[in-house]
Amino acid sequence: MSDELTADDVALVLDALAAAADHKREIAANCGDCDRSDSGLCPDCGTRLDRADEYGGLAHRIRSGQ
Ligand SMILES: [Zn+2]
Repeated sequence: MSDELTADDVALVLDALAAAADHKREIAANCGDCDRSDSGLCPDCGTRLDRADEYGGLAHRIRSGQ
């Protein structure tokens, strides 16, 4: 068995990254701490959304690297 990633492997990783980003954004969208925050975004969700963007950036890099 080869160590190379197959197209299916890459598709799986991209799907996981998209699901993870959606999950982070959904938590932020339903966060009570954000509702109570003056800026509308609590520090935890600031980190969450940054991470979601990083997932998207990584997915983009994986796609363009194919
Ligand atoms: Zn929050």
